[in-house]
Amino acid sequence: MLTLVQNYCIIFLGGGTMDIIEIVCEKCGNNKSEKKVIKNLEYGECTQCGAMTYKNFLTPQKQLPRCPYCNSYKIEKISKISKAASIAAFGVFALPKTAKQWHCNACKSDF
Ligand SMILES: [Zn+2]
Ligand SMILES: [Zn+2]
Repeated sequence: MLTLVQNYCIIFLGGGTMDIIEIVCEKCGNNKSEKKVIKNLEYGECTQCGAMTYKNFLTPQKQLPRCPYCNSYKIEKISKISKAASIAAFGVFALPKTAKQWHCNACKSDF
């Protein structure tokens, strides 16, 4: 009984906010897992037996954009002024969905 109380305290002191998701554990049938993220791996850990209930590799959010033509990272954002000018001229809804946002300094193309 004493050890149970201690474990309870440790979990809540060290765990911070727990993200509980409902996934049925294959091992013990418990339907609650704690969502955890380590680097680019997100996984669920059964709150009862600790088994991994799911895993999901996260694709990095911040990927450096690069030129689709020459694969160079030497690109820069086309200035907001020219975009603002086209909005002023044609209105927001007239902006084409494929508006070019980047300029490649290696092959001089816009994309
Ligand atoms: Zn379990
Ligand atoms: Zn390029």
